[in-house]
Amino acid sequence: MSFPWPHGSTSAAAFTFDVDAESCVLAHDPASSSRMSLMTHQAYGPRVGVPRLLRLLERQEVRATFFVPGFTADTYPDVVRRIVDGGHEIAHHGYLHEPMQGISAEQEASYIDAGLEALDRLGVTPVGYRAPWWEMNWHTADLLVERGFLYDSSLLDGDVPYRFRGERGSGSLVEIPVDWALDDWEQYAFYPGWTGSGVIESPRKVHEMWLLEAEAHAAENGCFVLTNHPFISGRPSKAAALERLVEDVRAMDGMWVATLREIAEHALVAVDEIRTVRRVTAPQRRLDGRPVAPGALVAALDGVG
Ligand SMILES: [Zn+2]
Repeated sequence: MSFPWPHGSTSAAAFTFDVDAESCVLAHDPASSSRMSLMTHQAYGPRVGVPRLLRLLERQEVRATFFVPGFTADTYPDVVRRIVDGGHEIAHHGYLHEPMQGISAEQEASYIDAGLEALDRLGVTPVGYRAPWWEMNWHTADLLVERGFLYDSSLLDGDVPYRFRGERGSGSLVEIPVDWALDDWEQYAFYPGWTGSGVIESPRKVHEMWLLEAEAHAAENGCFVLTNHPFISGRPSKAAALERLVEDVRAMDGMWVATLREIAEHALVAVDEIRTVRRVTAPQRRLDGRPVAPGALVAALDGVG
């Protein structure tokens, strides 16, 4: 079944920006604060990248979604205000871009609440969430539902939005899936002593790659969600390539360019089915060491839809 996009459109695109600034390197290693050059690489995002990207979006008459960690909001409140003044959506992205892998629901709830409080100090009540490093836990959806979130955009199992219920079943969320291939981190990120083998690709190559992705989503009735970081894609050549891509995507037949909030609000009324989260785990081994029948795993996958 094809996805029912609104206004006669046949596919959708969203341009999203994760305004991590210093938060992600401080979460990765608090001692990073002693590395002035590395910290300025991150500060480039709010100081130079965001203003350039806001000019780009204004020229292209596109409204975007900016995921802002609470620490960024506290450190650069004027940058958040400029994003809001530009007519864009502000959404939640943790407090200090915390590592979420394997933490308890209580710990994760404290991070989410700290992020909400920081945005609230600027008068922003987000309806969207993106997990730092796209790292959702099985318990995260219930935490988001309990706090009134409309959507998440961190999972990787779809080409179009869908609705799902958390494990405890406390209401439902809209999910707008992402893809590693549509993140500028994989294309451009280089950090001395961290991603030392990282390759900084040519923006021409990246434009070509993302255009192929957008064209395929347009042909397949899909939802193209691009994730950029202002400290990476706010640099001149990368922003120029991004602007060419925005022009190309806007010109595609039947393409609806929208914020994630608009897409989620549409999905909430256009999608009836609500999926149930099912954990997929490795098959248990029997006492004799042989794996259980593969059918056990297939049965679990059936529920994912
Ligand atoms: Zn991030």
